[in-house]
Order: sequence, then C-alpha cells, then structure tokens
Amino acid sequence: MWKCPKCGRSFKNRNQDHYCGQPPKTIEEYIQRQPEEFGPYLRQVNAAIKAALPDAVEKISWSMPTYWKKVNLIQFAAFRKHIGLYPGPEAVEAFSHQLQGFKTSKGTIQLPYDKPLPLELIGEIAQWCRNAFGGSTDLNP
Ligand SMILES: [Zn+2]
Repeated sequence: MWKCPKCGRSFKNRNQDHYCGQPPKTIEEYIQRQPEEFGPYLRQVNAAIKAALPDAVEKISWSMPTYWKKVNLIQFAAFRKHIGLYPGPEAVEAFSHQLQGFKTSKGTIQLPYDKPLPLELIGEIAQWCRNAFGGSTDLNP
C-alpha cells in the first residue's frame, strides 16, 4: 500500500496516478480531468452506454463513471493504454465469445486505445447488465 502524501488516499501501487483534489461529481467532469487525448475515446464509450441505458442514473462511484439502476450496472475508467470497462464477472462470462481478442479479467474488459472501440458490443453488454441486475425495463413501475 502507498499513501499519497498530498491527499492521504491509499493505493495499491506506489505513485499511483490519481487526482488529488475532490473526486469528480459527474461523468463529464471525470472525462475532463483525464489526459486530453483520451477524451474522444471516453466520450464514445460513455455515449454507447448512455444510449443503451436511457433509464439508468449517471454518477461517480468508486471514483469511476457509473451507470446505476438499483445497483451499479456498468462502470468504466481511463488508464494509460486502455479504458477499463467493468460490467461484472457474469457479463464478462456471458460475452466471452464476442470478447475474444480483448484482454479480460474477472469482471473487467480492457479496451486498448490503439484498437477500434467495439461500441455496439459495449451497448449490448450494458443492456445485458440492466436486464440482469436493474430490474424491469417498464417505464411505469
Ligand atoms: Zn493524492
């Protein structure tokens, strides 16, 4: 564990890259704080998820952009070489076939910046998460 001397937060890796001030409050704020060159990628991923989940709430949870409905349905985060997509282990398992060629680990999919973003697939995964964990899609519950 390493504790940042400036903000006092603890991290697994020494000198972990992070924002020392208040955490961002909105997804757009989060994206604005990332290196400029990542912005277009993050906005595309965000737009794909947003279009797939019109009834989910956008928020920041665990310092990550999050789409929420009853539970955190899907989250993402920017890294130096990839975007991490966090739909949960069940979704990664369910889409393992379509995700061949992408690095995955338990509940996480790595979307490298140097590969075309599978935006359609990201939307499908987001919808899968909503159907699995977000309850009914009925607009008048
Ligand atoms: Zn800090």
